[in-house]
Amino acid sequence: MNLLVMKRFVFALLCSTFVHAASGAGQETTQAIAKDAGLDFRWTGNAGFEVVLPTGDHVLVDPWLDSAPYNKLTLDKVTRADYILITHIHGDHADDVKKIQEKFPKVRIFVGALSAEPLTKWQNLNIAKLYKVIDRQEFEFDELKIQAFAGRHTESTFGNYCHWDEQGEMTHQSWGTMDLFHYLITAKDGTRFMVWAGTPSVDTAYQLRGLKPDLAAVHISPKQDFKILSRIMNSMEVGVMMPHHYDAWPTILRKMPAEIGNFPTEVQPLTPENVIEKMMAYVRKTLSDAGTKASFFTPEPHKWYHFDRATRKVSPTGAPA
Ligand SMILES: [Zn+2]
Ligand SMILES: [Zn+2]
Repeated sequence: MNLLVMKRFVFALLCSTFVHAASGAGQETTQAIAKDAGLDFRWTGNAGFEVVLPTGDHVLVDPWLDSAPYNKLTLDKVTRADYILITHIHGDHADDVKKIQEKFPKVRIFVGALSAEPLTKWQNLNIAKLYKVIDRQEFEFDELKIQAFAGRHTESTFGNYCHWDEQGEMTHQSWGTMDLFHYLITAKDGTRFMVWAGTPSVDTAYQLRGLKPDLAAVHISPKQDFKILSRIMNSMEVGVMMPHHYDAWPTILRKMPAEIGNFPTEVQPLTPENVIEKMMAYVRKTLSDAGTKASFFTPEPHKWYHFDRATRKVSPTGAPA
């Protein structure tokens, strides 16, 4: 162990805090959490992430598993779930909540307050561990703090997504558009992981300023204004920015070729085969030209990574034990 490594080790020991980690959402264990220990995570496809906290708890963000048509990670590959955070209740973010709850009955489910009932009706959920979220609400547990911030869905050329059932009630589709949340997770070691979704608009830059997430999962869509997105990233003071949801484009273009018209002219002509590569190059260039200070990291689907808070480096790692 060289001197620098020794110093870091001693510092981590001195800074370590003892917490009660609700292991398996039931058994209480006491364990030391080194300051800035960092997180393990994987991109499960589309807007989904699985985050493993320093306490060992697993957080699923927008899990779209068995029913996903691309980058599918099946539920049998998920070995633990303590929290589910749902940004909004469209199918590609919430289709599999019921199945996850059946496999992990103690999982705590966070969803917008207006969406809680439509989601429950849609999937016949057990509501005992449902947490209804409103803007700027904080939930603190022994293993993490969750903060919620109201956002807006990306604007659609279809209009307002308003679907009504035969009784005249709005279905989950409408609530998915109208009731969207960003989440900031703060782990016990201090690492801050942000989930950002929706439409970039100037008010969001003011709303989220100074949150300082170390790592932010950021929804990318051709419908967005990337200059404003850059302003939001800078206002939040994001350390590392990870794009997601862009893998939907080939499927969307195959089903709805007219959507190509929504893409910037700089990347045309587009096909389902070239859309990811061309759009992501365009997104990176536009964000860079607009002065985005965050570094950019593109995870491979399903691959486990470790995020080190002290160096803000992301590196491949094995699956958590
Ligand atoms: Zn949506
Ligand atoms: Zn979506």
